[in-house]
Amino acid sequence: MIVVMRVDCSQQEIDAILERLRERGLAGHLSPGVERTVIGVVGHTYPELKDMLELLPGVEEVVPISKPYKLSSREFRRENTTIQVGNVTIGNGDLVVIAGPCAVETEEQVLATARAVKAAGACMLRGGAYKPSTSPYQFRGLGEDGLKILETARYETGLPIITEVMAPADVELVCRYADVLQVGARNMQNFMLLDEVGKARKPAMLKRGFANTIQEWLLSAEYILSQGNHQLMLCERGIRTFETFTRNTMDVSAIPLVKRLSHLPVLGDPSHGTGKWYLVAPLAAAAVAAGADGIMVEVHPNPDIALKDGAQSLTFENFQRLVAQVNAVAAATGRKLAIPV
Ligand code: PEP
Ligand code: MN
Repeated sequence: MIVVMRVDCSQQEIDAILERLRERGLAGHLSPGVERTVIGVVGHTYPELKDMLELLPGVEEVVPISKPYKLSSREFRRENTTIQVGNVTIGNGDLVVIAGPCAVETEEQVLATARAVKAAGACMLRGGAYKPSTSPYQFRGLGEDGLKILETARYETGLPIITEVMAPADVELVCRYADVLQVGARNMQNFMLLDEVGKARKPAMLKRGFANTIQEWLLSAEYILSQGNHQLMLCERGIRTFETFTRNTMDVSAIPLVKRLSHLPVLGDPSHGTGKWYLVAPLAAAAVAAGADGIMVEVHPNPDIALKDGAQSLTFENFQRLVAQVNAVAAATGRKLAIPV
């Protein structure tokens, strides 16, 4: 249920609604919009509540929501959410390009990649220090040493850092180094982790689980939002289908669909979405054409010897070409790169 306040409502009227909800054992989540404030009612609502709330001063209308996700829905917030990370704004229409290695391996590898992707037009550096691996025998990341390398790369290049956090107990530590917390596909329904990321006051990116529906994805977003972290973006990274040529099937349709259902920024990850380096640029272009707020791409100085995801990692040269391509697609749809090259 959503309470839409009148344009000229007062703060006391808003406070009175929140107080009334509290009395009934419900929570009210405020979304102050440009024009008007709306209050998302979270908890077990019932039909009479609508009539009762509509009687209160300052209320324009009360809209019952049948969807199980509320705070992430367009009904709750009509305008697009924008997220500020350093001097980068995500969700304002400009195209954000995030790039970097799958895993942090060495300082030289990360610094070289950071400099190359920055020169090519990326505005944020990615790199995993905690790597979710299907097999325990694969490289699992350098942990805090990896975070320190990312910190050095930020210092050297000025690029903000996005990196994955896998365990609830690590959220505080990763927050000390990261500009954006990444929740990976395998942890999309790690509800304890989602709660902790929701308590953090740090932008976060929630990747879609490879076997999860869009509704489940939005409900996971709801966990983070309902803990008070509203700086949330989503990332489509491919889902598992019967096709075996590709690592995953990049669900490009999810991008405009989720942007219709939700106000949260949506990015596309064509690296995990395809698993093949030569499919990354075409699917990046498709994601941008479909309206993605940004793309996240894996880049490595020498993909042949990458400790993780070499087959889907781009060389510096190929990444430069990709940026030129997505730039052209963005321009064709009246958009531009967040950081022009
Ligand atoms: C990653 O971004 O490196 C990653 C592990 O992605 P996903 O969680 O989408 O598999
Ligand atoms: Mn990877």
